[in-house]
Amino acid sequence: FPSKFPDMATTIFTKMTSMANEYKAVNVSQGFPDFGPPQELIDHIALQLRKHHHQYAPMPGLPALRSAIAELHHRTRGELIDPDSEITITAGATQGLFAAIAALVRDGDEVIVLAPAYDSYAPAAQLMGARVKEIHLNDDFSLPIEQLQQNISHHTRLIIVNNPHNPSGACLSHDELMQLQALSMQHKQLWFLFDEVYQHLVFDGRTHHSALMYPELRKKSACVFSFGKSLNATGWKVGYIVAHEYYTREIRKIHQYEVFAVNSFLQSALADFLPVFSPSAIAAQIQSGRDLLQNLMGSSRFIPLPARGGYFQLYDYSQISDESDMAFTERLVREQGVATIPVSAFYQKPPKNQYLIRICFAKKPETLQLAAERLKNL
Ligand code: PMP
Ligand code: GLN
Repeated sequence: FPSKFPDMATTIFTKMTSMANEYKAVNVSQGFPDFGPPQELIDHIALQLRKHHHQYAPMPGLPALRSAIAELHHRTRGELIDPDSEITITAGATQGLFAAIAALVRDGDEVIVLAPAYDSYAPAAQLMGARVKEIHLNDDFSLPIEQLQQNISHHTRLIIVNNPHNPSGACLSHDELMQLQALSMQHKQLWFLFDEVYQHLVFDGRTHHSALMYPELRKKSACVFSFGKSLNATGWKVGYIVAHEYYTREIRKIHQYEVFAVNSFLQSALADFLPVFSPSAIAAQIQSGRDLLQNLMGSSRFIPLPARGGYFQLYDYSQISDESDMAFTERLVREQGVATIPVSAFYQKPPKNQYLIRICFAKKPETLQLAAERLKNL
């Protein structure tokens, strides 16, 4: 049959991790830690497996886990969430994003994606028949509010916002959230999808401004989170989505036929673990990777951009080469033995004269040392 997506390639993360394996390179490309979750959580999982949690969990997620999530949000940021009507456990954030888009967006709608953008947003919207309008973030990766205002039409159904931001590490300010809230109140047909998978990974004493803290914005939003990112366990693919009762009901209509339910024993173990979970300990662990990488690369010709949250450091390599970022990153794997990510992969139309690569610093010190040793003298 004719391909539905003739122009769609394998994701850049799969490509660079495969190249890293092929060339036995240090892999600081795809965003995953090379260390694991807290031991206490692993003990809970072993216990839950012994207790025979092997059958289906309830479709929206285990009630005990949804309550534990609501408590965690209340403990860390004072947010009040109803676990029964506002939380759905998803197979990672990716499936949450997909279900939230599928439930809302229809043929002919317009979806605004702020680039550089995580790669799953646009295809999910296009699959629902939407037109994707890519708007570039400002040069410092802050929100281009005026441009957003100018681009919203009565066709604009959804704006997707990632905060903290992959790949730049930018974190939205209170003012930016207030501006988005104002937009949500001005345009009746407009909704927001907040990808907050790095909610706990904010550095240097920052606080995360979640859309859930803005009551009017929250009424028009779905927010997606990932335990993969909060607990150093990206392979588990367990996340959740918080949305108002009506939107949640619509999301669950999709969720029930997409996956029905998410694996049961991890949900039980997470429910037991979350009451003692310390997000700030994980943030400190990830921040120490950022600090180490910045120190190790300090004397190099790679120019670091500010990394305020998340897993990633951007480097400008324009003092080293004028190759495209794709050619440069491929050469780094082959010749230097280091796999990184070209930032142009996060755009449909990349800006001209941008020379940026992304390095994942959620890695052990020895991994970062090896990567820096191989890069810093270029
Ligand atoms: N959104 C962003 C911004 C991400 O970086 C990632 C993954 N790394 C995801 C969503 C997907 O999260 P998950 O693995 O939980 O599906
Ligand atoms: N979010 C991860 C990254 O940005 C990759 C996840 C994936 O491979 N799909 O590197």
